[in-house]
Amino acid sequence: MTELTFVGAAGTVTGSKHLVTVDGHHLFVDCGLFQGPRDVEALNLAPLPVPAAEMEAVVITHGHLDHVGYLPRLVRDGYRGPIYCTPATADVMEIVLEDAAHIQSHMHDRGFHHERSHSLAPFFTSEDVSATLRQVKTVALETDFTVCGATVRYHYAGHIVGAAYVDMRAGGRRSIFSGDLGRYDAALLFDPTPLESADTVVCEATYGDREHPPDSLAELRATLLAGIERGGPIIMPTFAVERSQDMLFAIGRLQKMDAQIARLPVHLDSPMAIKVDGVFAKHRDAYRELPETPGAPFGCNNLTLHVTSDQSKQLNHINAPAIVIASSGMATGGRILYHLYRNLENPNATIVFPGYQGQGTLGRIIINGASSVRLFGDQLTVRAAIAHLSGFSAHAGQDELLRWLQTLGSTTAQVYLVHADPPSAQAFAAILKQHGFAATIAQRGMTVTL
Ligand SMILES: [Zn+2]
Repeated sequence: MTELTFVGAAGTVTGSKHLVTVDGHHLFVDCGLFQGPRDVEALNLAPLPVPAAEMEAVVITHGHLDHVGYLPRLVRDGYRGPIYCTPATADVMEIVLEDAAHIQSHMHDRGFHHERSHSLAPFFTSEDVSATLRQVKTVALETDFTVCGATVRYHYAGHIVGAAYVDMRAGGRRSIFSGDLGRYDAALLFDPTPLESADTVVCEATYGDREHPPDSLAELRATLLAGIERGGPIIMPTFAVERSQDMLFAIGRLQKMDAQIARLPVHLDSPMAIKVDGVFAKHRDAYRELPETPGAPFGCNNLTLHVTSDQSKQLNHINAPAIVIASSGMATGGRILYHLYRNLENPNATIVFPGYQGQGTLGRIIINGASSVRLFGDQLTVRAAIAHLSGFSAHAGQDELLRWLQTLGSTTAQVYLVHADPPSAQAFAAILKQHGFAATIAQRGMTVTL
């Protein structure tokens, strides 16, 4: 018998962690951190339903922290089994986990551990990350492997480089775990692989209540032109993984369409994003073929990379139009905080958020229109223009989630909705019912038979 218990990302968008028990053998599909407000982060401290040392395998869908960020803790607590993922995900995961360990120790050393978004720091250390990476076993897409007696296969999911969804066959039943599903017709990534058949689909529903605007490039162009008009720097808090590369590619396309944008200097102030550029270079088969553009990563000209902190400090005194891309994407840490600190009070500056802003993050507070925010102990009055682009999401919108589920060819599968705030999950469950699917919103702690 195969059972599934929803341990995380059930009622929340973070903490993805699905416990699958095949004839008494335990594995996790994803092993992510809860992130966000204090009450959500506190869930990381709750005991697991099965002790770490008794887990036999972990199958990872992709390298985002909310899908892999609990792994170092699991290993520290005694997990010694394999951690399966695709080759590109192994590289992304290494960058993401090392960065997370670094930020936690940095914040802790600087005394920021009492601030809300770092209440858990340091949750794990670089040593825990090194131990975790030694347990990684990579498996290519479309290749069967055996986990706890189940036959598992990865299929391309889009979303970010390396992302895969999990197809698990056990006891004559077939179960799909979407991980995070990407977009159709994305600039860099391929469409998600169609489903064939399934008895159960555990499906993310982050944007179950929304569709994305059709033309994200036009939205970015208008925002950049308004920023140029304003006369100051254009600061972009950007996820280092995937979104930075998406933005370079989009800016590169706009440079060819608009002379004003072509003249704008572009600064990528993120060692992590620069490392992720390297993952793309290494895994050419993981994304669409790009035109060869020597000296212009992802087709973006006029680009300066800032790796060291001295190189980052060169950006301190910019007060003319220039794009500065830095992470973290929700302004919860990293170099972007220094750019925000210097520019939030600058009436000539523009702050552009090209991604999702989680509840309780500084990014969400700013896009919600706060007139002042607290940063590095100072209360700053927000005088910069604030923009939030909604078209660059790495997650499928409502119509795309439905499109993917309809590749099943029938509506007989039982669908469990995860990775969504309750309003999104409820909206998408209603849509699925209209289309004939049996949809259940997963609750944390709920166990079902697959
Ligand atoms: Zn993700």
